[in-house]
Amino acid sequence: MKIGFIGLGIMGKPMAKNLLKASYSLVVFDINKEAVKEVVKAGGEEGLSSKDVAQKCEIIITMLPNSPHVKAVVLGPDGVIEGARPGSIIIDMSSIAPKASQEIAIEASKKEIEVIDAPVSGGEPKAIDGTLSIMVGGKKEIFDKCYDILSKMGKSIVHCGEIGAGNTTKLANQIIVALNIAAMSEAFVLGTKAGVNPEVLYNAIRGGLAGSNVLDAKAPMVLDGNFKPGFKIDLHIKDLTNAIDTGHELGVPLPLTSQIMEILQALKVDGKGQCDHSAIIQFYEKLAKVEVRK
Ligand code: NAD
Repeated sequence: MKIGFIGLGIMGKPMAKNLLKASYSLVVFDINKEAVKEVVKAGGEEGLSSKDVAQKCEIIITMLPNSPHVKAVVLGPDGVIEGARPGSIIIDMSSIAPKASQEIAIEASKKEIEVIDAPVSGGEPKAIDGTLSIMVGGKKEIFDKCYDILSKMGKSIVHCGEIGAGNTTKLANQIIVALNIAAMSEAFVLGTKAGVNPEVLYNAIRGGLAGSNVLDAKAPMVLDGNFKPGFKIDLHIKDLTNAIDTGHELGVPLPLTSQIMEILQALKVDGKGQCDHSAIIQFYEKLAKVEVRK
């Protein structure tokens, strides 16, 4: 069985390479030819377009920035549903609006193509290790069919409900991650300005109740002054926009999410949209006129 992989960015490239390592045959496509070259070098076959990938594969994975990109790649001209045969499965692993997943699935179903949404959490390091957390929405029987493939990219693979439920779960994840980084930033700036060595502060609290995966992933980056993405501020703005839109459509106010959104907007205006989201601390550093570094 051949698998198609469209979108070979920070996340898609290592995920595709893990499927190749697990001996799956892959046909890959990205508008960035350099990324395609790298995955072809690792054993993939180059696809000429999303349509071409779909013509050659029964299962097509997409790992793209946001809803409009997935809609264009799946439903647009030269897109996946133009090439895919009835019975094919699209696994969209991008983080997009749950409503967009539902709309894409409805359009694809008109051509008897199945869709599941399977966004991930864990960032580039876990994409490389093949230990991502994968949150899946869609029919249970399609989830079961795709489980082995997903297990080559992730360690925790959970069926969350009907189509869109994976992305709803991912939005919840992104709210928690953003607010954790903001809490860490506020606390580290306070400690540092009060004269506590931030590395000592980190080591003192990481084993207690304030410890978390977010703290262990982001505090070392902050202490090293390393804001290379990772997960870009621009992408977190995208996720929180989807979270706020979804919340408002459902009648769920999100006051804390709105606050961290404005902090991210301020950082974007400051030219930091392409920095890792650990750069949230730079907003606090500017306010308090202190730098949190080793
Ligand atoms: P990225 O920007 O590095 O990669 C996206 C890729 O999609 C790029 O290579 C781009 O060229 C390609 N692309 C865009 N439009 C295309 C098109 N029309 N046809 C073919 N290829 C196209 O983004 P990423 O960091 O890999 O993130 C991908 C998704 O995963 C996003 O939804 C993001 O929110 C999510 N995500 C990212 C991380 C992370 O830490 N980077 C973690 C979890 C989830």
